[in-house]
Order: sequence, then C-alpha cells, then structure tokens
Amino acid sequence: MKRAGTPERPGGWRGSAAQIAVGRASIMRWNSIRHLQPRCGAARKRDGEPCQNLAMGNGRCRCHGGRTPKGDGYHLPVWPDGKAPGAMTKLNKKLNALDRAAAKRAKRIAAFTPEQRQRYDAWRRTHKPGPAAVRDRAKAERQQAASVRKMLSESRPETAPSDEQAELERLLADRKAELARAIAKKQTNDPGAFG
Ligand SMILES: [Zn+2]
Repeated sequence: MKRAGTPERPGGWRGSAAQIAVGRASIMRWNSIRHLQPRCGAARKRDGEPCQNLAMGNGRCRCHGGRTPKGDGYHLPVWPDGKAPGAMTKLNKKLNALDRAAAKRAKRIAAFTPEQRQRYDAWRRTHKPGPAAVRDRAKAERQQAASVRKMLSESRPETAPSDEQAELERLLADRKAELARAIAKKQTNDPGAFG
C-alpha cells in the first residue's frame, strides 16, 4: 500500500521537495497569524467564559452559530445537493439531525423559567427564519407600529370637553329622547294584528 506523500512517479509534484517547501511555508505562515485571528465570544458551557475557538465570518465559531447561514437562508436548513453522490444518505442524516436538535430544544424550553420563556418567545418573534427581504419588511412594520404606539401614548390630550362638544352631545341626547318618545307613541297607537 502506498503511503500518503509518496511521489506518484519520479519527478512528480506530490511528495517533491518543492511541495514540501510550499506546505511548510503555509503552515508556518498560519502559525504566525493564528493568534491574531478573531475568536468566538459566545459564553462556553464549561465556565461561562468566552469560547475562544476560531471565529467564522459572523464572529462565532462553528459550534456557536458560525455556520448559521445569513441572508435568504437565515436559520433555514441547508439541504444536500440532489445530484451529489450519496445524496439520499446525506438527506436522511440531515433529517435525523434536525429531529434530534428539535427534541433537545423542546427539552431545554420545557425547563425554562417563565422569564427565560418570555425572553425566548420575544427572540423567536424578532428572529424569524427565511429570506432577508421578508425579515426586513417585518422589522420595518414592527418599528412603525412601535413608533405609532409611542406617538399615541405621548400625544393623547387629557383636556376637558369643549363647549362645542357639550352642545353637540346635548343635541344628540335630545334627538335620542325624541326618537324614544316617537317609538313609544307608535307602540301605544298601533292596534296590532288583532286590533
Ligand atoms: Zn464558540
């Protein structure tokens, strides 16, 4: 059996001095900059300190949401490519993993305190999965509703009814009384079906 790194043929690239030099250079370069790479700041389970794994593009490591897609795929499952070899196996593994994650989440939610549950529900309301445009629209609507509520609560005048309003109400009461009298009169005058 051929070991990894064995040259394919004499004078080939694989295992050559040139390939080893390239590999060594990239490893040394990585070792010189890896301490400068951004680290994940999520609270780790062990002691609540920052996780410190290498962060991905969104500032979290692969265990703490770094692999969660952003944009249109935000928090949606990433399905395997149907044309890939072993796509069916991958799909089944994915479905099982989603089931396991859902069961684990349900267990965690069941153990929440009422405050934790409230916070979680609020987070779920503002962090819906799916396309960015839809989420942006929902966010804009939430903000508009909040600003309208704020405006209404601030600008409600607590003034006494004006003279004009009092006059209108008096007229309305008169009309109602008149109507009630007319109805009563009609009922007493009405001979009815057997009159
Ligand atoms: Zn992390």
